[in-house]
Amino acid sequence: MEKRELTCIGCPMGCMLTVILENGEVTEVTGNTCQKGDIYARKEVVNPTRIVTSTVKVTGGEKERVSVKTASDIPKDKIFEVMKAIDAASISAPVNIGDTVIKDVAGTGVDVIATKNIS
Ligand code: SF4
Repeated sequence: MEKRELTCIGCPMGCMLTVILENGEVTEVTGNTCQKGDIYARKEVVNPTRIVTSTVKVTGGEKERVSVKTASDIPKDKIFEVMKAIDAASISAPVNIGDTVIKDVAGTGVDVIATKNIS
């Protein structure tokens, strides 16, 4: 039996979660106030993922950088590679919300998209 303790990031309450694993499978989650915490805990111990947010350099625009995010969750162990790709990227203005800034970032199958308009 393995016991893992986590803080739920589902809302500002930050419930302290305890996860019990047997042979790598989750058998029990306690400490969660709502179902969201149970779902988060099960995913976090087996396949942790995150949305990454950052900014990318803009050329020829009214602003020098545009805010971006991954279009969906990426594996947590790919965050460093994704951040490196974001740091190295640039995009020409105009940029519209939802534009793809990096396709299939770091081989994750997930695109990085703009979250602001830059004219
Ligand atoms: S378990 Fe529910 S109430 Fe507690 S932090 Fe997570 S989302 Fe919020």
